[in-house]
Amino acid sequence: MPSIIDRSPVVAAVSTGGASPVLARLIRSRLESVIPAGYGRLAELCGRFRERVKHTITNPEERRRFWDHILQGGVAERVFSGHMQEAEALMERELTDGHLQSGMGEVYLVGGGPGDPDLLTFRALRLMQQADVVVYDRLVAKAVLDMTRSDAERIYVGKERDNHAMRQEEINELLADLAKQGKRVVRLKGGDPFIFGRGGEEIDTLASQGVPFQVVPGVTAAAGCASYAGIPLTHRDYAQSVTFVTGHLKDNSMNLNWLQLAQPNQTVVFYMGLKGLPVISRELQAHGVSALVQQGTTHQQRVFTGTIATLPEIVERERPKPPTLIIVGDVVQLQGKLSWFDTPEASEQGATTPVTPGTELR
Ligand code: SAH
Repeated sequence: MPSIIDRSPVVAAVSTGGASPVLARLIRSRLESVIPAGYGRLAELCGRFRERVKHTITNPEERRRFWDHILQGGVAERVFSGHMQEAEALMERELTDGHLQSGMGEVYLVGGGPGDPDLLTFRALRLMQQADVVVYDRLVAKAVLDMTRSDAERIYVGKERDNHAMRQEEINELLADLAKQGKRVVRLKGGDPFIFGRGGEEIDTLASQGVPFQVVPGVTAAAGCASYAGIPLTHRDYAQSVTFVTGHLKDNSMNLNWLQLAQPNQTVVFYMGLKGLPVISRELQAHGVSALVQQGTTHQQRVFTGTIATLPEIVERERPKPPTLIIVGDVVQLQGKLSWFDTPEASEQGATTPVTPGTELR
C-alpha cells in the first residue's frame, strides 16, 4: 500500500516495494512538510492557463522557462498565501508583457561540496534542479552531479592535473555564451567555488560581459575532510589558526613561506598536495603529525595518519586515490579518538574503529 500525499489534482505516492511501509510513511511525512498545501490550487491555476500559454509561447524551451518562472516566483507565492485573484492577475501580466523574452540567461556558480551530496546547500540543490545546462569538472562527485535535473545538458570541462580538457579562458567564454543563448547554466564546482576553485575568474568574465550570475558557497574540502575524519582544525588546545595553502607544484617546487607554515600552534591544510608531498614533508619535518584524507566525505574515504616525515612512505605503500587533502598539525593527534565516519572499506577490513592505516607509524 503506497503512502499518498494528496494535493489534488497533484498526487504523489511513495512505495518501498513492500520492503518497509514505516520508511514509506516517514518519507511521506517529510514530503508533506516541503510540499505546500497550496500546490493543488497552483496546479489548478496552471491547468486553466496551459492552452493559452502553449499558443502564446510557441518555443518549447521558452515555454518551460516561463513555467519555471511562474512556479517558483511571485505567482506561486501569491497562491500559497491564499491570494488567488492576485495570482491570476499576475499570471495574465507575465503572459502578455512577456518580460521573459529578453533572451538573457543566468549563470549559477555553485559549490558542490567535497563529495557527499547531503552536504549541498538548499540553494545549490534548487538551482541545480532548475538549470538547463550543467558545466562540471572532474572534482564534482558523481553523487552530486546526479542531483542535477536529469534532462539538463551536461558539459564536462575536464581539469585533470596536467591535462585540462578545456582551458580556463575557454570555460569562462563557454559560460558567457550559454547564458547569452538564454540558458540557465549551473557551473558546478567541487568544494567551494572561491577556494582554489578559480570561480573568481569565471565570474570576472561574466561581470565584464554583463551576464547575470550568482554564487553559492559550498563546503570546502578542508572543512568536509576534517569533519569526516574527526580532526577539529582549530581545537583550542592545539591550534590558534588554520591556513589553507595550495601544494601545487610549479617547476618541481612550491613557492611558499615555509618559515611561517612551520610555526607551532597552527594547522596547515594543503590542497592539491599529493604530488608535492615529498617537498612538504622535507620542509615541515619539525611539525610532527599529519593526516592524508583520500576522497573525503564519500564512502571511499580513507584516512592515513603519521608523522610528516613518514607520510611519503605511507603514500608509497597505500597509493591513495585522488582527490586527497593533507592536514598538518597537532590537531591530527585527536583523529584516532574522534573519528566517527565509518566507510564500507573500513568494515571490509574488519576494523572495529574507523580505518586509520598508518596509525601505527605515528
Ligand atoms: N574548490 C575546492 C578545491 C579545489 S582544488 C574546495 O573548496 O574544496 C582541488 C583539491 O581539493 C584537490 O587536489 C584536493 O586536495 C582537494 N579536495 C577536493 N575534494 C576533496 C575530497 N573529497 N577529499 C580530499 N581532498 C579533496
